[in-house]
Amino acid sequence: MKTEHWTHKTHLFRADEYICPACGAGSDRPYKKCPSCGAALGVAKYDSSWVEEAEGLSALMDNDW
Ligand SMILES: [Zn+2]
Repeated sequence: MKTEHWTHKTHLFRADEYICPACGAGSDRPYKKCPSCGAALGVAKYDSSWVEEAEGLSALMDNDW
């Protein structure tokens, strides 16, 4: 049985969040156990979703550059 990990999501305009893979609950910290479902979770894996958000932002700003 493999260990599950938090998914670390970073956002441009919001605080980072950690998503539990077992129940999908968001948390502000990578706790050793999910505060929502109690699943034991390992170190967060990095999710660079902010890159897509940044690309969307630069697309919006293209007219002025
Ligand atoms: Zn959970």
